[in-house]
Amino acid sequence: AVAETGAPTIFDKIIKKEIPATIVYEDAKVLAFRDINPQAPVHILLIPKIRDGLTQLSKAEPRHAEILGHMLYTAKVVAEGEGISEGYRIVINNGPSACQSVYHLHLHIIGGRQMKWPAG
Ligand code: 5GP
Repeated sequence: AVAETGAPTIFDKIIKKEIPATIVYEDAKVLAFRDINPQAPVHILLIPKIRDGLTQLSKAEPRHAEILGHMLYTAKVVAEGEGISEGYRIVINNGPSACQSVYHLHLHIIGGRQMKWPAG
């Protein structure tokens, strides 16, 4: 399991366009791009462009409420753009026991196939 360190992550390089990613949505505050290891036909990661201490959801403070709301609303917009509005899953892995591997908050937007619950 990867532990949180506060160090820059691979997502900083994606934000700076230093490494390639397939970007599907971008605005002043957030970036959405396809996961390099997709778990479904549609698997997109949605991140804040400025981490501001949000290594993981459990670090959220009151000042983060606006970006958190913007991320969730944008997930809906991205899902619409992907044509999966009928059904999709939004996931946040928080911490080692949830298998979080990148410590820059991200929403997974997963769809395009039948999902099982709670895993798969
Ligand atoms: P976590 O396990 O932290 O919730 O999710 C991290 C996600 O980032 C994983 O699904 C992983 O496949 C994805 N990922 C890791 N490195 C890269 C990368 O360099 N590019 C892209 N597009 N996705 C990445």
